[in-house]
Amino acid sequence: MGALGGATALAQAGRGTGPLKITDIKVILTQPGADNLVAVKVFTNEPGLYGVGCATHRERPLAVAAAIEQYLKPALVGKDPEAIEDIWQTQYVASYFRSGVTLNNALSGVDGALWDILGKRAGMPVYKLLGGKVRTAVPLYTHASATTLEELESLVRKAMGDGYRHVRVQLGVPGFATYGANSLTSETVQKARPQGTGNSPVFEPTPYLNNTLKMFDYLRAKIGFDVDLIHDVHERLPPPQALQLCKAVEPYRPFFMEDPFAPEDAHWFSVLRQQTVTPLAMGELFVNRNEWLPLVQNRLIDFIRIHISAIGGLSLARKIQCCCEMFGVRTAWHGPGNVSPIGHAVNMHLDLASYNFGIQEENRFSDATREVFPGAPEIRGGYMYANDKPGLGVDVDEKAAARFPYKTPGQNRGTDRRLDGTIVRP
Ligand code: MG
Repeated sequence: MGALGGATALAQAGRGTGPLKITDIKVILTQPGADNLVAVKVFTNEPGLYGVGCATHRERPLAVAAAIEQYLKPALVGKDPEAIEDIWQTQYVASYFRSGVTLNNALSGVDGALWDILGKRAGMPVYKLLGGKVRTAVPLYTHASATTLEELESLVRKAMGDGYRHVRVQLGVPGFATYGANSLTSETVQKARPQGTGNSPVFEPTPYLNNTLKMFDYLRAKIGFDVDLIHDVHERLPPPQALQLCKAVEPYRPFFMEDPFAPEDAHWFSVLRQQTVTPLAMGELFVNRNEWLPLVQNRLIDFIRIHISAIGGLSLARKIQCCCEMFGVRTAWHGPGNVSPIGHAVNMHLDLASYNFGIQEENRFSDATREVFPGAPEIRGGYMYANDKPGLGVDVDEKAAARFPYKTPGQNRGTDRRLDGTIVRP
């Protein structure tokens, strides 16, 4: 009665002041932790009613902010915030050229805020608007990264002790840089480079492949098969070696191998699928439906890994989730530190309401991040919990955000190079 009664009172208050309208859109740039975050607030003419959304593109946040301030705000002030689908479709084509990561993130910031407003007006958490909970809380996978096998084993055991049943494992490659673990390039490796090559970190596919096989072999021998192991290839291998790796890890039964190919090489999945039953996850870099749709409709992947703000936010993500359910593909939305707590809340609401949920990547928010984003999803014992407040259940404290300004205008990826100096995909 309380929640519904409140909603009725709000709706009546809204009617009393004329039709509901967007009155302002504000971009909040803040860096309370390692990542440049972009949050959006959409204000309405109903006193005290606003919504928040995630528009975080950590690498190029100022471009997203400009897109919101210069294009979305002038177009949307005065519009009905409950026309979520019309606003999404209209702004998706307003730029004519579409599906780029900057404009998608900008749209996501507004889209999340509109769902938040709708939930607040209805007196319901967003997961109820999506059909209601199909699970009590969201199972998470945590990250275990180390430079030695022994250390990695102890991290996996600790995670299991803390209640996690899924752990992502990344092992440093001796003498080389790699994705997901802090191994350093040795002097010997630097000396093996052609004369005149700069002093960058060095990544080489073959030592990484060999080291990863050794990792799986060691962990399964020591820990057994009762914990689900995940590994992120992070588009680091040439396609033939990605095939070799995914096929070779089959006896170790990973929960999934992530991003074995770059999005540019996604057609290789049709070859990989014929070669192995290793479960495959893909897609944190996808921005366009033509990238993921063929993989889903042809059942070439098992988990969709999209970064929800990079495709335009919750409105499109829920359609992708429904589409994936029809093809037996499960969700594993991208969820590290370059997703703001608002973005994590969006992931969580969708996770709670999706039958075809697979697993959720976790991020541990620092105290400073929780101060800036009160109501950020809680993590306990390997699960993420909703606070059941109306809307997304998370807010942005603008005063706290202002105490953590950006240290740089964004971040850059792609510092590793091959021995011969060729740039490596991030
Ligand atoms: Mg990844």
